[in-house]
Amino acid sequence: MTDGGFVSIEGTTSNRDSFGILLRFLGSLTLLKRLLPVTILLLVMTTAAPQIFLWLTGEYSQCIAPSECFARIPFLGQSLGLTPELLAWVALGSAALRLFCWALFEISGQWAAQGIHRKMVSAVAHTRTTFFDENPSGRLINRLVRDFDNLRTTGVVRISDTIYTLTEAMCVSALVFLAHPIGAILIVPTILFFFYAQRQISPMLQRCATIKSARFSEVLHRETDVIEGARTFQLYGKECTLLERLQSALNRFIQINLVRAEVESWGRFWTASITTLYSFTTLAAVGAAVHYGTISSILGAVIITVIFRLSPLFSWLTWTTSYLVESIATARRVFEYVDLPDELDEEFAPSAARPLRLTLAQPPTGDIEIENFTMSYRPALPIILDNISLKLPFGAHIGIIGRTGSGKTSIVQSLLRMVYVHGGDILVGGVSIFSLPVDMSRSLFSVVPQDPYLFEGTIRSNLDRTGSVTTARLQNALEDVGLTASIDAAVAEGGKNLSVGERQLVCLARAIVMNRPYILMDEPTSSVDSITDQRMHEALFNRFKGKTIITIAHRLQTLESYDLLVELSAGRVVRTGHPSKILPHIPTTQG
Ligand code: ATP
Ligand code: MG
Repeated sequence: MTDGGFVSIEGTTSNRDSFGILLRFLGSLTLLKRLLPVTILLLVMTTAAPQIFLWLTGEYSQCIAPSECFARIPFLGQSLGLTPELLAWVALGSAALRLFCWALFEISGQWAAQGIHRKMVSAVAHTRTTFFDENPSGRLINRLVRDFDNLRTTGVVRISDTIYTLTEAMCVSALVFLAHPIGAILIVPTILFFFYAQRQISPMLQRCATIKSARFSEVLHRETDVIEGARTFQLYGKECTLLERLQSALNRFIQINLVRAEVESWGRFWTASITTLYSFTTLAAVGAAVHYGTISSILGAVIITVIFRLSPLFSWLTWTTSYLVESIATARRVFEYVDLPDELDEEFAPSAARPLRLTLAQPPTGDIEIENFTMSYRPALPIILDNISLKLPFGAHIGIIGRTGSGKTSIVQSLLRMVYVHGGDILVGGVSIFSLPVDMSRSLFSVVPQDPYLFEGTIRSNLDRTGSVTTARLQNALEDVGLTASIDAAVAEGGKNLSVGERQLVCLARAIVMNRPYILMDEPTSSVDSITDQRMHEALFNRFKGKTIITIAHRLQTLESYDLLVELSAGRVVRTGHPSKILPHIPTTQG
């Protein structure tokens, strides 16, 4: 779903396949899966140990002399010698088991979360680039960081808590059953009611969690607006509007928290009512059993203590399951990103003929031939380049010109395979770039983009991300493009501490360092003065001898010495030829 056809609206309505999502999340807990029998045994022992301890202390308190102290094991008819040491060991064992069980869940959960995060980041990195246009950065950060962190912390803890509490409830029920069959008869409707109430509440809670997360994305999105747009707003004295938008996003987020709290309280009220009713009924039955001598008064007291644990236990279960279903909503959002389609799956319109995949040892080089190529940025968006055909000879210097919005950058994007292909082909050295692995086809090109983005670090780290190039080579590249900055000068996030022209020079220096056969330059000199422009072109022609240089430029005199000019208008090629033939036809107002 998209807002006005561009930025997508975050889905908040779907509760589909919650059980499948839960199973998928459980399935990712590989350590627990591998140790399943041990896990089950541990869980049962962990929950049973405190009850056994309670029972043993009950028996112990009846002893007249410690040396004659025995506990009768139900059903087996055997007796167990009771000593204070044994009781201490059972208590210690129970605590150690609990700790071990917790560690097992925690480690397994952390491993699973790391695996899910790796897959999520990899899926986002390999999805089509227009995905980033559709999704504001606040939303991406919310999913990649907050949703993931919720799943890592709350999700795993709630799973273990829910399982633990359920097992404990079963142990308590078994104890009640030992005391009197009426307890077992009553516990079945209690459990059924509990699940019925959960069935009613879970979809509501999941929906709240999804809306809450989407609203939190909006808050982050508005905060990014405040950070990025503050200067513009301050300039026009409109910063109040910006803050009001942030405030109303925050209010909407708070509102959904309140709704969630109401739903949860409602669920707790019903569960608490029914378990209290159960406790009192069973209490009456146990009281009767003690009265008629069916069970000993001490065992009766122990069972009554246990029964009174049942009410908070169910209350706790309601609480953990409510967080668990919220974690399902979070897991759904995280898995949505894990399952993002690969960019190659969305590269071609269904009607377009897709070339067969090839496996080559080396990427091909040669002329670039664009054949009847038609593209848009997404299936539902208008066609941008419309059935264009072009031949760009290998080793030539080619200029692309045209009015603003005519499709010049779209040619660069098409060569980099970042668009949606409706038809036609692009060949390099006679091989379709679409038949190559995407990394290989992109490795043909160095790009100096129109709006360069530099990474936080130093100029060195931006020129050479792998750290494999010598300082002398990096320094030479900087000198070639006429950038006087030190190689270890700091670069702020996005390159904000450099002018746009300086950023483009860094990108050009990077292109020199990378030494690829095709250089794509999108308005490389639009932000630099004419001396720097001349210097850049000298560097280009000297350093990129024998390589194909494709330059998009508005400053037409820059292109006079080029071999070929291509003029675009509204996504079509209107003229191609030597600059001496083309430039006289271009109105001086262009650009
Ligand atoms: P300029 O001279 O301003 O750089 P251009 O010739 O490079 O313009 P393009 O960037 O190729 O023009 O854009 C051509 C058309 O494609 C424009 O109408 C623009 O709105 C659209 N367009 C560009 N990028 C995207 C995108 N990421 N998503 C959707 N539409 C886009
Ligand atoms: Mg452009």
